[in-house]
Amino acid sequence: MTDCIFCKIARGELPSKKVYEDDELLAFHDIHPAAPVHLLVIPKLHVASLAECDGRHGEVLGKMLLLAPKLAQDHGLVDGFKTVINTGKGGGQVVFHLHVHIIGGANMAHV
Ligand code: AMP
Ligand code: ZN
Repeated sequence: MTDCIFCKIARGELPSKKVYEDDELLAFHDIHPAAPVHLLVIPKLHVASLAECDGRHGEVLGKMLLLAPKLAQDHGLVDGFKTVINTGKGGGQVVFHLHVHIIGGANMAHV
């Protein structure tokens, strides 16, 4: 996807505050943090949302979720953290490249 901003970040064509990278995944700071710690984990390969995932995405989805507690720990979220996946317009998704939000460091009840 040439005009997808998260694809551009994954390709290094747009800047990001990167916190993790491997062959399949990238994690970086959200540009408009909703809490003291607000990270996004994306697959490098474009998939628009969770609704477009199928069995082929199982492994990468598992890796994204397993990365969340590691990144949370790295960023000092010892009491816990929130993971959010907004899916589709009705789910509040704005960037149509699958991503997991990792949010913490404040009262998470209303975030
Ligand atoms: P969502 O509503 O789940 O689609 O959330 C998209 C998130 O991406 C929002 O929290 C935005 O602040 C964040 N975002 C948008 N553009 C960028 C960017 N260039 N770098 C980092 N985060 C971004
Ligand atoms: Zn994309």
